[in-house]
Amino acid sequence: MSHILDTPINFLKGVGEQKAELLKKELGIFYFRDLLHHYPFRYVDKSQFYKVNEIKDENFYYQLKGYIRDFQTIGHKQSQRITAVFYDETGEVELLWFKGLKWIKEFVKSGQVYTIYGKPKSFRGVFSFVHPELEIYEPQKTTNMIQFESVYNSTEKLKANFLDSKGLRKLCYQLFEKIDGRIEENLSAEVLALTKFPSKAEALRMIHFPQNQNDFLKARQRLVFEEFFFFGLKLLLSRNLRDKNVKGFVFESVGDYLTTFYKNNLPFELTNAQKRVIKEMRKDMATGRQMNRLLQGDVGSGKTLVALMLMLIAADNGFQSCLMAPTEILAQQHFNSFQKFLANLGIQINLLTGSTKAKERREIHDSLLTGKTHILIGTHALIESAVQFNNLGFVVIDEQHRFGVAQRAKLWQKNSIPPHVLVMTATPIPRTLAMTVYGDLDVSQLDELPPGRKPIKTHHVYESSRLRVFEFIRKTVKRGKQVYVVYPLIEESETLDLNFLMDGFESISRSFPLPEYAVSIVHGKMKAADKEYEMMRFAKGETDIMVATTVIEVGVDVPNASVMVIENAERFGLAQLHQLRGRVGRGDDESNCILITSDKISADGLKRVKAMTDTNDGFRIAELDLTLRGGGDIQGLRQSGMPEFKIADIFRDEKMLKYAKSVAESVLAKDNLLSLPHNAMLLNYLKQTSYGNKQWSRIS
Ligand code: ADP
Ligand code: MG
Repeated sequence: MSHILDTPINFLKGVGEQKAELLKKELGIFYFRDLLHHYPFRYVDKSQFYKVNEIKDENFYYQLKGYIRDFQTIGHKQSQRITAVFYDETGEVELLWFKGLKWIKEFVKSGQVYTIYGKPKSFRGVFSFVHPELEIYEPQKTTNMIQFESVYNSTEKLKANFLDSKGLRKLCYQLFEKIDGRIEENLSAEVLALTKFPSKAEALRMIHFPQNQNDFLKARQRLVFEEFFFFGLKLLLSRNLRDKNVKGFVFESVGDYLTTFYKNNLPFELTNAQKRVIKEMRKDMATGRQMNRLLQGDVGSGKTLVALMLMLIAADNGFQSCLMAPTEILAQQHFNSFQKFLANLGIQINLLTGSTKAKERREIHDSLLTGKTHILIGTHALIESAVQFNNLGFVVIDEQHRFGVAQRAKLWQKNSIPPHVLVMTATPIPRTLAMTVYGDLDVSQLDELPPGRKPIKTHHVYESSRLRVFEFIRKTVKRGKQVYVVYPLIEESETLDLNFLMDGFESISRSFPLPEYAVSIVHGKMKAADKEYEMMRFAKGETDIMVATTVIEVGVDVPNASVMVIENAERFGLAQLHQLRGRVGRGDDESNCILITSDKISADGLKRVKAMTDTNDGFRIAELDLTLRGGGDIQGLRQSGMPEFKIADIFRDEKMLKYAKSVAESVLAKDNLLSLPHNAMLLNYLKQTSYGNKQWSRIS
């Protein structure tokens, strides 16, 4: 028999065919269960006054009583706003208005007691209310208070059919009466006892009908926990299942290739971080476990070399490897440096990209199939189905944030037994987030740069002082060093940007004329072969200045280039700026990064530029990036395949995410495949619900 929660929504009184149809279309509410999980997005509580020092939660509406002072009008015309301080005996908050300024100015008088009502925003520990409801306090009015009420999201169409927030609330009342507490618990007794959260039934009642703020907070915590817990449980469980079912290739021996390389070819000492990381991966590869690992390391930390050495171990054990890079330039560069590093070792390396000629392509296909090729380097071209290996044992994906999830998954499927997989990124994200973004990957970190690198000095220069920058470029080139000048080209199709770049190129060519200076240009609209040609000229030192768009953002390695000039720096994101800066500081010379911005830079733009001039640490930059962008703008992360949660927010609830993961770990530590009877309910719940698709959690 099906559960009462699976009853269609039209079984509620007042929900006829038309309303049922609308609820489905507009809110995805088909069954009782769906309405139960349509949570209020805020609450109205005018039943009591809070004190300023009781404000804790940004999701909550507060009614406060107090005085207003420090009234100020800021800014000009369109950007004009009013700020004021609201205070009571326990503390103060900021008030902010952008509209209706005239009315506010007339209405507010000092010495008057006011009530304000609204939702606070917290910024650096200070709460502020933007456009709060504002009234003169009248003691006699407070006796007939409205109660505590939940407010639901609705839509225009629903509102027109009496299903506004109030209508939905009525439906919820009715629903709760009908189901009369018959809500299945999905957390096991063990987990409930450990966490001391309210039961599911209680939490759902409290989220819809809280008596006070505490109810809401308790209910929300439980529901957030639950989402994170099952998410974490699923990832960890699928890893356990993989360990049990999927046998990885065993790379047990270190043979001639690696030993000879280490003795004869390696031109420098490995950093301790490189040694540690290689050890971590060798352990995975030697045990019959299939490795699925993320290598995070700041730009220049030497990730490529780690990949290369592991490929040699693969070759020593008779397996082929491949390396996939996001751009042709980068693939080409990896190919060149691999050839240099692996000279005279008898390792066969091939390069396969979109511009490989048909004849050569066929030869490479053959060489892969016969097993003659040890290492294949390339771009997306690698995932085409025509590319078949003899025995692919190890797959490396460089700058993985540039690839879609599906593309990565295709590489995985190149073998019946999945190869070991290593994905590398220089865009670090905080560890707890890595768990949600990268699923069940293990994470290794290169947290050390090779010795002898001088930190890059970063400067902010306004465009009105561009001539000074040109002077600096001149001096740099005179010293025999090379310079990048980067222009924004965020969408490769934006002709406007292209014009801008060409103008810049002309101006630079004019200011730095031949024969004294040679200038290269590279942008996304050029033919691959031309791009490569120019890149190669610059890499060989035949040109002094490289004018480019962000196509050079990832990976490119020219140690003699010691100055990076970024035009319109305010148009770049922080992660991108950091990547670009990483193109210099690769030689022994002192390096400089110069961020040129418009004289009228926005406050946000200035914060990003300041972050860059303040620190060289990629992890620090990643954190700043998250706080500056805020939880709202997580586009980049979403593209990496981040799951969506109903009530939980991975930024706001980061602590709960950690906690939930630790609880999931402790459950699995005692029962690694959830096969014991008391965990059956957890397993069932996982099977019923889907958190992201299977493919996603599998690859990376
Ligand atoms: P990334 O981690 O950004 O991909 P690369 O792998 O391109 O960095 O390495 C940056 C540069 O540092 C390369 O020129 C590489 O040869 C060099 N390198 C790597 N490891 C070491 C080391 N242990 N000592 C000195 N130089 C190193
Ligand atoms: Mg790299």
